[in-house]
Amino acid sequence: MIKASGLHKRFGHNEVLKGVSLEMSKGEVIAVIGPSGSGKSTFLRCLNHLETIDAGRIEIEGDVLADTDAGGQARYAPEAEVRRICRRMGMVFQHFNLFPHMTVLQNIIEAPITVKGMSRDAIIPKAEALLAKVGLSAKRDAYPARLSGGQKQRVAIARALAMEPDIMLFDEPTSALDPELTGEVLRTMRQLAEEHMTMLVVTHEMGFAREVANRVIFMDQGEIVEERPAAEFFASPAHPRSRAFLDNML
Ligand code: ATP
Ligand code: MG
Repeated sequence: MIKASGLHKRFGHNEVLKGVSLEMSKGEVIAVIGPSGSGKSTFLRCLNHLETIDAGRIEIEGDVLADTDAGGQARYAPEAEVRRICRRMGMVFQHFNLFPHMTVLQNIIEAPITVKGMSRDAIIPKAEALLAKVGLSAKRDAYPARLSGGQKQRVAIARALAMEPDIMLFDEPTSALDPELTGEVLRTMRQLAEEHMTMLVVTHEMGFAREVANRVIFMDQGEIVEERPAAEFFASPAHPRSRAFLDNML
């Protein structure tokens, strides 16, 4: 599914990813946790080419997105291939990034029509089914400005799902929400997990990580410090830095 090995990324002199590796199989839910600035978002953004890596190898669904050449530099697949590979991943951000001038339905059908060339007749029933799934059928024709944060985030999830991704990447999908709105978004994500969607989730929601994730990855200073089954990790984090982090969170 996702095979990343030895990912290196620097911004100027700041080495943000120092050889990050991850293998993720179909249907797995992995929570990525760690302190601010540890490289969690950068890691996710490198996987779907919102950032480029300097060195390392990324394989998605058996296709090589990037690999290190003999000179130690990352080389990417041809552009059309990169686009095709990245389309297999849907991403949901902290800030929902909905198109403000489009209704909820238009937000969901836009990319399937323009990127995938689907017909309106084919995508509209699908979009409506996705809206029902995230509990927002009644908001079909509303504009984003009229929605709560939790509703916007559920639309963002439906929009990503409309592209039929094999993998969903979430970057702190609830951290911009008022506490009373996080539950509805986490429920939607939990439902996706129960349907065996492959999910890589950066989150500060330790309850969600413990109950929904199969594995937990703890990142600190650009490295994966600990990687364990979620139940084990929360019962007894092995690394002093993960222990200190959890003590702070709970
Ligand atoms: P948070 O929990 O606060 O979201 P994070 O673990 O997601 O943190 P990143 O956003 O990946 O951390 O950032 C890791 C490091 O990379 C930080 O030092 C950050 O300042 C730096 N960084 C991230 N994006 C850029 C960028 N576009 N240009 C320069 N530096 C960046
Ligand atoms: Mg981040």
